[in-house]
Formats: sequence, structure tokens, C-alpha cells
Amino acid sequence: MSEAQKSRITTDLAGQVALVTGAARGLGRLIAQSLAQCGARVSCVDVNAAMLDETVAQLTAEGADVDAYPCDVTDSARVNAVVDEVVKKRGGLDILVNNAGITRDGMLVRMKDDQWDSVLAINLRGTFLFTRAAAKPMIKGHRGRIINIASVSGLMGNPGQANYSASKAGVIGLTRTVAMELAGRNITVNAVAPGFIETDMTAQLGETIIAGIRERVPLGRLGRPRDVADAVLFLASPAADYITGQVLTVDGGLTV
Ligand code: NAD
Repeated sequence: MSEAQKSRITTDLAGQVALVTGAARGLGRLIAQSLAQCGARVSCVDVNAAMLDETVAQLTAEGADVDAYPCDVTDSARVNAVVDEVVKKRGGLDILVNNAGITRDGMLVRMKDDQWDSVLAINLRGTFLFTRAAAKPMIKGHRGRIINIASVSGLMGNPGQANYSASKAGVIGLTRTVAMELAGRNITVNAVAPGFIETDMTAQLGETIIAGIRERVPLGRLGRPRDVADAVLFLASPAADYITGQVLTVDGGLTV
């Protein structure tokens, strides 16, 4: 296992059941791997069934207790069925990480309806559907952690991302409201807002744009997937027991 794959947070999640969406690659894959390293049993959800199977096979070979659930997060019936299956197989659900997300960038006047609809559907509706489905077993179990992957684009504007910014601002609003609704049930709901992280999503931007971003970040570098995964582990850990409705920004100071 490489240094980048090793978590810097040590916490004991033994016996806990976690579900991570968009877990086939990128940040979701590392988050699933990190939760498993801490002892959680992790159900991995992704729309890309082939990539998901490959990821789960690799994590299993490392000794992780993970399983695969092919699922489009916008499909309400399938989302409910996945949560039911996980609860039946694993005996409950303790941690939900809503990570699946896409970008379909374009300036407002050229943005097609489909660009708007697909980004809002996956990033915001998908988060709502899994949160609603997971809340039921969490309420029954009198405990739960819901962690939504937002973005600094949901906190500040970003030209070319009207759809993405709106979806992530929506995720932040959803996080705060659901935190209030579920606090009495011992369920915390928080968001992590990454800045620019070195992943396939940002690699599409090209070197010139990436150099410009680096100059804007006070800490002088893009974030690493590890930085985001460790923020998620912190929010999943007992150290975050009294934190709910918050947005933990992981952006090297970009939004300061
Ligand atoms: P990624 O594209 O590498 O991975 C996203 C995963 O989500 C993929 O495995 C994809 O198959 C899956 N997915 C897409 N549509 C889906 C659907 N309908 N149902 C289920 N799964 C679906 O992206 P990433 O860079 O790892 O980003 C993960 C999350 O972090 C996203 O929510 C993204 O908006 C957020 N984020 C990323 C960055 C960054 O710099 N990479 C910055 C801020 C926020």
C-alpha cells in the first residue's frame, strides 16, 4: 500500500457498517478504502459496475471487508433497494458518505438543459435519495453519521460551473436542514467541501488552468485525495460526536 493510501487518522470503526457512493474510483474509492482500514465494513456503490467490481476485488485482496452494489444514485427505487439489502446483510447502517458526483461545465448562456439536469440529478437528488433511505435504519439504530461531499464551488461562485455550484450549494443546504431534523436521533450530518484536488476530475482542466489554481491557493498546492479522505474519517470518528450541520472546507485556504 502506498503512503497516499494510508490514513493519517487513527480511529476504531470496528463493526460499523458504512456505505460510500461513487466508490469505484477517485475520492470515493480512497474514502471506502480508508474506512475499511479503520475496521468498518464498507458497501461500495457506483453506476459503473465493471469498475466497481474491479475496485472491490482489489480492496478485498488487501483484506478489506467490502462489497459492491451497482446503482445509479438518481434511481429512487434502486437506492431504497440497496439500503435495504445492506441493512439486511450487515445488520444496520452507521455511516453514509454521499460522494458520487459529476461536472458538466459550460458558461451559462451556452449551457444545455441536459448539462443542468444531469448535474443536479446526480449531485443533489442522488444525495437526497441516499440520505432519506439511510435515515430510516439510522433512526431505528439510534445512531448515524452522514457525510456529504460538497465543493468550494458550492460556497463561492466558479465561472463555467453554474450547474455544479448550484448542486453543491444545494447539498450544503440539505446538510444543514437534515442535521437539524436528525440531531434528536443521535445522527450527525456534515459536509466536506474540497477545493481543487489532484484527481481525474481536475486532470481534465489542463496544465495552464492547474498552474493558475496553484497560484490562487494560499498553501501553494492542489489538495491530495488523502486530505479529503482524512477529513471524512475525522467526521466519522468519535472525535466528531458533537459536530453537526457543519461544512469542513479542505481547500488549502482558497476560500479564506
Ligand atoms: P470521479 O469522477 O473520479 O469519481 C466519481 C465517481 O462517481 C465515479 O466512480 C463515477 O462512476 C461515480 N458516479 C457518477 N455518476 C454516478 C451515478 N449516477 N450513480 C452512482 N455513481 C456515479 O470524481 P472525484 O474527483 O473522485 O469526485 C468525488 C466527489 O468529490 C464528487 O462529488 C465531486 O463533486 C467532489 N469534489 C471533487 C473535487 C476534485 O477536485 N476532484 C473537488 C471538490 C469536490
